Amino acid sequence: MSVALLPPVTGMPARFLEGAEALSEGPRFVRTRAMSRWHRPRSGVRWGGERVVFHLWCVGHVQGDDFLSTDELPDGDLVCGMCDGKAMGAGQELEQPPGRQLIFTPRDIAPPKNCPGSRSSVLFEELPGGRAGRCLACGDVQPLRAMGGPYNSRCAIVQHPTGPGIVPPCPFHRWRSLTARDGRAICSCGREATP
Ligand SMILES: [Zn+2]
Ligand SMILES: [Zn+2]
Ligand SMILES: [Zn+2]
Repeated sequence: MSVALLPPVTGMPARFLEGAEALSEGPRFVRTRAMSRWHRPRSGVRWGGERVVFHLWCVGHVQGDDFLSTDELPDGDLVCGMCDGKAMGAGQELEQPPGRQLIFTPRDIAPPKNCPGSRSSVLFEELPGGRAGRCLACGDVQPLRAMGGPYNSRCAIVQHPTGPGIVPPCPFHRWRSLTARDGRAICSCGREATP
C-alpha cells in the first residue's frame, strides 16, 4: 500500500453506500489475471469492513481477492498508458518521468467556484438583525434574501463564491449533498468530511 488515492467521488446516493469506507492509500499497480497489462487505482472503497474495490484511472475496477498488486513493476511488464499518464499527471507520484511534466486535472476534486451553500435555505446561521447569515459551508457572511415564488417563499443565503473556510468534503459526494446538522454543514450521507 504505497500511493495516495483520490477520493472515490460518485453520484451514487447515500442509501447505496452503507458500509462503504473510502481508502486513502492503495497499491501502485493492479491487474487481474485476465488483464493484458497493469493498471493503476485511482480510488478505493472497502465494503462492509472487508471486500476492497479499486477503481482504475482508465475504466473498470478490480476487487476482492481476484487481482494481483505490486508497487514495483516486474521487468518487461506492460502498463496501461491511460492509467499511468493520468495518475502521474494528477500528482499521484511525487516524481515525474524524466524530461516531461504530465498534467491531468480530475473533475470534482477541487471546491466549486460557487459555494455549495449558495441559495440554500438551511446552510446558514442567521446573524442578529436577520439580514445576513454566516454560510455553514464556507463560513463567509452573506446577505439573506427571500427566494422562491409566492407559494414556496423561503429565506436563503445569496449565491456567493466559495469562501476560504469551505468545510472538508465528503469522500463520496464532495460538496454536492451538504445539509445542516446541529449548526454545521455535513454531507447528507452522514459522513464526516475528511480533509
Ligand atoms: Zn488502465
Ligand atoms: Zn458559502
Ligand atoms: Zn456523502
